[in-house]
Amino acid sequence: MTRSTCPYCGVGCGVILTPVANGIRVKGDPEHPANLGRLCSKGTALGETVGLSGRLTAPLVKGVETDWDAALDLVAARFRDTIAGHGPDSVAFYLSGQMLTEDYYVANKLMKGFIGSANVDTNSRLCMASTVAGHTRAFGADTVPGTYEDLDQADLVVLVGSNLAWCHPVLWQRVEAARAARGTKIVVIDPRRSVTADAADLHLPLSPGADVALFNRLLVAIADRGLTDAAYLARIEGADAAIAAARADLAETGVAPALLDRFIDLWCATPRVVTVFSQGVNQSTSGTDKVNAILNCHLATGRIGRPGMGPFSVTGQPNAMGGREVGGLANQLACHLALENPDHRQAVGRFWNATRMADRPGLKAVDLFRAAGDGRIKALWIIHTNPAVTLPEADAVRAAIAGCDFVVVSDVTGATDTARLAHVLLPAAAWAEKSGTVTNSDRTISRQRQVIAAPGQARPDWWMLAQVARRMGFSGFDWSGPAAIFREHAALSGIAGRFGRDFDISGKARISDAGYDVMDPFRWPFSAHRQGGRFFADGQFFTPDRRGRMVAVTSRPPAAMPSEKRPLRLNTGRIRDQWHTMTRTNRAARLNRHLGEPFIDLHPADALQLGVAPFGLAEVTSDHGSAILRVVLSDRVGRGQAFAPMHWSGETAPTGRVDALVPGALDPISGQPELKAATVSVAPFPAR
Ligand code: SF4
Repeated sequence: MTRSTCPYCGVGCGVILTPVANGIRVKGDPEHPANLGRLCSKGTALGETVGLSGRLTAPLVKGVETDWDAALDLVAARFRDTIAGHGPDSVAFYLSGQMLTEDYYVANKLMKGFIGSANVDTNSRLCMASTVAGHTRAFGADTVPGTYEDLDQADLVVLVGSNLAWCHPVLWQRVEAARAARGTKIVVIDPRRSVTADAADLHLPLSPGADVALFNRLLVAIADRGLTDAAYLARIEGADAAIAAARADLAETGVAPALLDRFIDLWCATPRVVTVFSQGVNQSTSGTDKVNAILNCHLATGRIGRPGMGPFSVTGQPNAMGGREVGGLANQLACHLALENPDHRQAVGRFWNATRMADRPGLKAVDLFRAAGDGRIKALWIIHTNPAVTLPEADAVRAAIAGCDFVVVSDVTGATDTARLAHVLLPAAAWAEKSGTVTNSDRTISRQRQVIAAPGQARPDWWMLAQVARRMGFSGFDWSGPAAIFREHAALSGIAGRFGRDFDISGKARISDAGYDVMDPFRWPFSAHRQGGRFFADGQFFTPDRRGRMVAVTSRPPAAMPSEKRPLRLNTGRIRDQWHTMTRTNRAARLNRHLGEPFIDLHPADALQLGVAPFGLAEVTSDHGSAILRVVLSDRVGRGQAFAPMHWSGETAPTGRVDALVPGALDPISGQPELKAATVSVAPFPAR
């Protein structure tokens, strides 16, 4: 019996794993603080996903099996030669929130401290980059103020752009338990009537992209009703400007006035309110402003960092937060230090004995693949992610990868759309075959532990990265295992603490290998001075003057607007039983029984007008690509709107790649793409 962590979503549930003859038996860990024994359908089926079919078990160079020495020598030589010929910014790493923190740490150290570029970004850019930017603007650092216990203690939970019941099911179970125990009210703000909205006390079907307008209305009501917290606001800059901007924001919310008033009355009358937000907020060209519109309301009322109160971003991936801790985004350094700050760069560089520190932000995900497409990036290493399916304008991304001079992919399978384009394929250990840590949405760091042997030559990611670093001639990459990397990471976090940053786990910097093996989940910060808990109730922030910021924001519509040619607004998202591009969940037969093929939800009146039949096929076309999807008539979407899940790939449904439809329009601050507001046309398939 081994305690570990579920590798799917950002809830970070603890699991108890027992190897059995045909896989692994999985139970929820009753002692893990994230789930207290609960699991969802995906977590319960984890044991059925560990089979060996389709596994990559040896390094491949241009499809020919080779050994590790030959593959690693080739990767190191090609990266070294490319840098020598074209400079450090001609190479890039594209990482994943599926990676363990130790793996992430090594990739960032290599790229930012030794190669000398910050071209290291991650698929977490698609997940929570707008929250990182919004937190940083308001708090001075990317810090989640609250904890999961706040969901248990709230009297009102507002879910914005979050289908919590399907996408973070165990958190939803916690909210439902709070409702049963203390009568917690639930409000869902989402253009789509999701399954979560079905169960809510109030559903506000706002117009796509109208989140800023809605929270600005709330902020004005807070001000007009005298509900601002004067004592708390004495610690906040920008309140007057933010309220003035909210008053001037006259954009329509799309919500009936009486319904909006009910929400505002409820919010204003309920001190213990947690506002949970997720991809519907983040995946937008105004995602950062949406985040700050939400934070403004909590800062104005001092409802933050106290039991049952606060804004709460829930991350999509199991280790999106861990990636943020080590600087896994192209605009971050490590331990929440700033790449642009020379003092921070010097401190980290000295700690690493870095030979060539990056001194400016690198390319963010969408721009990184554009650079691969136009020849600026000439060597690219993609780890545990499938950008040929998941990035916007996915057809162009696929062409960019295919045209890049040298592409390395490390993954557990060589059968993804992206892996098929690689020059070098490196066999990676899967989640149950490797050890390290992950950090969930409420800053709890948990161990992921190896329970079964990796097949063939498969190895952990940190090992591959360290081997390449050593072969490129760099020192400081000779760890004995993940515990040694964790100790280095924890020690570096103490430096962040000295700069007044929030991320500090230096209390764990001297942990032994044996201690790391048995390390229980803990929430950061974990230093001599502070352990776990909430932030900002004391009015102390991470800005230079230690004061918080309300940010003046006004509404902007999505980048693409419906037209005669593309009349429908397409929202993309997840379904209950699949994860990302299904490389793992597709292996569990019971998960495929839920919703088994790519589909599009259309309003019945729109379907009638478009001439598409229920359960027939439709060709969905945007300016960037097309997909053939099953038509589902649904009153969950409004007139002029549509919804399609993003899971299917060239491997599982070659014509069902929904992100091929999505434009690469970006939030100007966070670089996060607008994955929920494409415009499309829909026609019967085959054409009549
Ligand atoms: Fe895994 Fe997320 Fe389900 Fe928990 S809620 S079992 S972390 S998929």
